Amino acid sequence: MTIDNCNFNGKKVIVRVDFNVPLDENGLVTDNTRIRGALPTLKKVLNDGGALIMMSHMGKPKGKVNPKLSLSQIVKNVSEALGVDVKFAPDCGKAESEVAALQAGEALLLENLRFYPEEEGKPVGIDKADPAYDAAKKEMKARQAEFARKLASYADYYINDAFGTAHRRHASTAVIADDFDKDHKMLGYLMEKEVKAIENVMHNAQRPFTAIIGGSKVSSKLGVIKNLLDKVDNLGGGMGYTFVKALGGNIGLSLHEDDLMPEALNVMAAAKEKDVNIYLSVESVCGQAFKNDTPRKVFPINEIPDDWEGMDAGPASLEIWKKVILGSKTILWNGPVGVFELPNFAVGTGEIAKYVAEATKRGAYSLVGGGDSVAAVNKFGLADQVSYVSTGGGAMLEAIEGKELPGVTAIKG
Ligand code: AMP
Repeated sequence: MTIDNCNFNGKKVIVRVDFNVPLDENGLVTDNTRIRGALPTLKKVLNDGGALIMMSHMGKPKGKVNPKLSLSQIVKNVSEALGVDVKFAPDCGKAESEVAALQAGEALLLENLRFYPEEEGKPVGIDKADPAYDAAKKEMKARQAEFARKLASYADYYINDAFGTAHRRHASTAVIADDFDKDHKMLGYLMEKEVKAIENVMHNAQRPFTAIIGGSKVSSKLGVIKNLLDKVDNLGGGMGYTFVKALGGNIGLSLHEDDLMPEALNVMAAAKEKDVNIYLSVESVCGQAFKNDTPRKVFPINEIPDDWEGMDAGPASLEIWKKVILGSKTILWNGPVGVFELPNFAVGTGEIAKYVAEATKRGAYSLVGGGDSVAAVNKFGLADQVSYVSTGGGAMLEAIEGKELPGVTAIKG
């Protein structure tokens, strides 16, 4: 079932949203992007004349009630965004009476799902090495299914619109779907868009297809890089110091991972075999300390002096990537190419954002996603000039790694 094909008039609808919004020390929401992201789905339910039940996690309470992570703190923000007075159920596992009282056109927010260990379904207080772990895990899985059944009992329909947790098999993101038949469960609008954007690059990419992968650690992106080798024509980006060192270059104090050097060489060999062009950085803007006002100097990336650290992509690297990006029909960008939080080392990342926007203007499909690259396009005011900005960091990375997303499979099969 798709959300557009469904009329929720007179029905109760439970929607898994991602309201894991940042709060300040007074419990006030500092960025409501995630609330706004869920609005099209939530409004569709209300406009159809449905009764809306929203559920989410916030932070990591680890299965215990923690007032600092109570969703009661965001009721006002959700009410303002939705334009209705949202009611609150202070115990998501015992919300029968609030749900029963809910009328068509009304909205109810359940308390933080992760106050229950059953939401994540991981055994609590027992080490994996403990011989009793397997039994504890089995018991917790049964409790998780029961908890999911309770959540399902509140509603006629289940919608998952929380892409940020789509890579987790939690009670509210996947297990609950077992209690609805295929005509009573669906992805929300945000999830539909995310899934389509990923399909566009992973399965329907027009060539040339270029992936720009940056960030601080090769280790966190290795799975992504390996899977992309079967998909892309060009692979470029930051994070190359481990590669450069493995090839015998001097990288000074630049961030790298020695234990991954053999793997980096394997990736280069595999790329050659698969006819994927690898565009490592060739030049770095370096600093002498990890701070904004440190002296800056540009060095070839394989000739960085011992007391300097590569902190941004140099002009020669940017020139190469500019050509490659502007010549592409599909672009996937994940991760900044420098320490973009420090203004003096943000130039390279800003340039990449501009090239991706320019290529998009010329007709390329561009997907930007995964934590910090999203912050980067926002910082440079270019978010509306790329084809799609993904909201789910970890979920998007796992999808690009080629892993199944339990939250999507639970609905689409
Ligand atoms: P990730 O979460 O893996 O995408 O990494 C993002 C982080 O990588 C950002 O905080 C950047 O500041 C950092 N980063 C990017 N390039 C470098 C670099 N050359 N040296 C140290 N950190 C970097």
